[in-house]
Amino acid sequence: MKTIIQTRFLIAILSVFAGAVQAAENYGATEVPDVGKSPRWVIAIHGGAGGTEPADLGTEKASRTRDDLREALEAGAAILENGGTGAEAIEAALRVMEDSVHFNAGRGAVLDEHGVARHDASIMRGEDYAAGAIAGSSRIRNPITAARAVMEQTQNVMLHGGGADWFAAKQGLDVVNPLYFITEERRNQLLEKRAENPDTVADAADSYFGTVGAVVLDKHGNLAAGTSTGGRSNKRFGRIGDTPVIGAGTYASNQSCAVSGTGHGEYFMRWTVARDICALVEFKDESLKDAAEALIVQTLLPVDGYGAVIAMDPSGKVVFVSTTANLKRGVMSSSTPARVAINAAEEVN
Ligand code: ASP
Repeated sequence: MKTIIQTRFLIAILSVFAGAVQAAENYGATEVPDVGKSPRWVIAIHGGAGGTEPADLGTEKASRTRDDLREALEAGAAILENGGTGAEAIEAALRVMEDSVHFNAGRGAVLDEHGVARHDASIMRGEDYAAGAIAGSSRIRNPITAARAVMEQTQNVMLHGGGADWFAAKQGLDVVNPLYFITEERRNQLLEKRAENPDTVADAADSYFGTVGAVVLDKHGNLAAGTSTGGRSNKRFGRIGDTPVIGAGTYASNQSCAVSGTGHGEYFMRWTVARDICALVEFKDESLKDAAEALIVQTLLPVDGYGAVIAMDPSGKVVFVSTTANLKRGVMSSSTPARVAINAAEEVN
């Protein structure tokens, strides 16, 4: 937290000297990649925001992360090209990232204070406001699949803990031993955090976000959004973040936009980030870019709420906004190839 503030202060000072208008611009606050004229479908994904320093793009991890982002885009694109729905495409794309150890979702998710990976996920359809979510599950291999099943197979919006695991098993979804999710890297991360601060859980901001999310416009003209995460490293047992909360970490409406967020979840919940972005578009006629910046840069940043969103409007226009040094992300459409980026300031290409 202290490091983030110090880094931001330094960048703000440097920006003034460089004649830059806003410190946030140093983090590549907004990018709007071209998705072609009247695309038939568009998919944009993120693999989490975080880090006080831009990631070293030359590492093997960075290159594998890019490969995973491309694979996720291609998985979603194949479904969209064949006329599949946004929910199907989101599930396919996020499953790739949940199965990869390079993101904080599914296998490789962060561990809570008891050393267990507990997952949150949600999905929403823009055409009829249908939504589904699971929270605090420790056995569902692909949380986004379970969230979609809650949306499509029940009258409920959210199931949690053992109830979510039991529902998934009853639905015939893959249910695994909780050890499946634990990687050495995450175990070490938790041990380091405990060593730094033996008596506290992750209530304050830290620098490790890595949630995955997607927003989609399908061939039927419908928007959808979905998000999946392990939450925050060393989180309090029972803590649930913004990711499964409709309107906070995920939202989709054909009337305005689709949004998937990543960052310090307590802030995304308290400021109802995803819904407010869409509300600004719907009721105040703001552009998607202005609405996303209004929440992420102008509202959350001044109160030390760090994070990012990807958002899409009904024409398929994509906006990325981040107030952290990194935002793993990618975009692909019916007329443009898969393009990805890792640093917030890096171009998507
Ligand atoms: N938003 C997530 C949470 O607070 C964390 C993340 O995006 O990495 O649970």
